[in-house]
Amino acid sequence: MRIAVIGGGPGGLYFAALVKQVDPRHEVVLWERGGAEDAFGFGVVFSDGALGGVQAANPELFEAVIDRFVRWESVDVRYRGRTKSHDGYRFSAVGRQALLRLLRECCEDRRVVLRFATSAPPLPELRAEFDLVVAAEGVGSAVRSARAEAFGAHLEPRGSRYLWMGTDRVFDALTFAVVETPHGPVQVHAYPYAPGRSTFIVETTDRVLRDSGLEVPDRSPAETARAVAGLFDGDPDLLGDHRLICTGSRWGRFTSVRNDRWSDGNVVLLGDAAHTAHFSIGSGTKLAMEDAVALAISLTEHRDLPDALAAYEAERKPAVERMQRVAEISREWFERVEEHVGLPLDEFTVRLLTRSGRISHRDLPLLDRAHVERVRNWFSRTLASTA
Ligand SMILES: Cc1cc2nc3c(=O)[nH]c(=O)nc-3n(C[C@H](O)[C@H](O)[C@H](O)COP(=O)(O)OP(=O)(O)OC[C@H]3O[C@@H](n4cnc5c(N)ncnc54)[C@H](O)[C@@H]3O)c2cc1C
Repeated sequence: MRIAVIGGGPGGLYFAALVKQVDPRHEVVLWERGGAEDAFGFGVVFSDGALGGVQAANPELFEAVIDRFVRWESVDVRYRGRTKSHDGYRFSAVGRQALLRLLRECCEDRRVVLRFATSAPPLPELRAEFDLVVAAEGVGSAVRSARAEAFGAHLEPRGSRYLWMGTDRVFDALTFAVVETPHGPVQVHAYPYAPGRSTFIVETTDRVLRDSGLEVPDRSPAETARAVAGLFDGDPDLLGDHRLICTGSRWGRFTSVRNDRWSDGNVVLLGDAAHTAHFSIGSGTKLAMEDAVALAISLTEHRDLPDALAAYEAERKPAVERMQRVAEISREWFERVEEHVGLPLDEFTVRLLTRSGRISHRDLPLLDRAHVERVRNWFSRTLASTA
């Protein structure tokens, strides 16, 4: 089969590597408009300390990913200058750039044709030339926009504004900090991901961003980092003497993406192009890579493309929707954090940690245990039979 993959994020790269792993006869070409080392973002956190079915599909690759993991077992809630720690969680994180490099090497080993620093050709051209077009282009997917009606796309920009930054302060837990500024509360989601580095996501509302004058489009990344650090003057211990690291000055707006249908003829959506989940539950990368696993399996199990794409959607859509429900509650909680400000630290912490209702970070590994087993068995059986 000739397969075109648009987008060299974790979803697109992992799918390209896996589909060649199970059948090297496929011809797979992947376009990524950024350079090979240009990854946006800092670290990504995996909330259950393991990668479930994603890891089971290619354990050798994940040995190298896991080698780079920073691990910890607690969540810290920092509020009004005090921190409360809760143990008993399992988290790991890795630099996004390191993860993408490993996935890229895996694609190179399997002879995926990689076209970095190149935008994908127009969709009609790809559709005509390839048997399958995988749109793994992220939240701003042009393919999804061009065929919005066919996919039944629902895009809902939310009130949550964020800047994905890094810092040289090494946090030792997944840290949620809420800092009261003169303009309203600002949240920080921080966690370590590499020696000497932590992710530091600042989240707030449109109103706080406007009133604090922080949204200045032409500011340099260094000026932006300094201006954002000023938000935390009221809690100097949060950063201490450390600096913020910024690679761009654009504040993002979290956009909820859903699609009634994930394929349209020979075009299929994968990862953030198909669905988003608010970053406060740290699952987007894993969801995109789980899509990659499911699509690679479906294409091998089903002779007809429409059957394969239907099986992929039937497997992934309900699982994704479950995570999206949890993520929406979490997003809403952070957007309405003002309602909780003023509570004593203990009560504030309990409300934050139980914000997603029935499912907490502790339960996530249980959700996909059966799925992990299925993926492990499928890949070891399929690879053994093609060896
Ligand atoms: C602030 C923030 C923090 C996050 N933190 C976490 C976290 O801790 N853990 C986690 O699991 N997830 C996290 N996520 C989510 C995660 O980044 C995404 O879910 C994940 O990157 C989705 O992977 P993807 O492959 O679908 O898309 P992307 O990673 O967005 O990759 C899409 C790629 O397609 C390329 N592209 C787009 N259009 C074209 C084109 N026409 N031609 C060629 N290339 C194109 C883009 O350059 C991009 O590299 C976070 C997201 C945000 C915004």
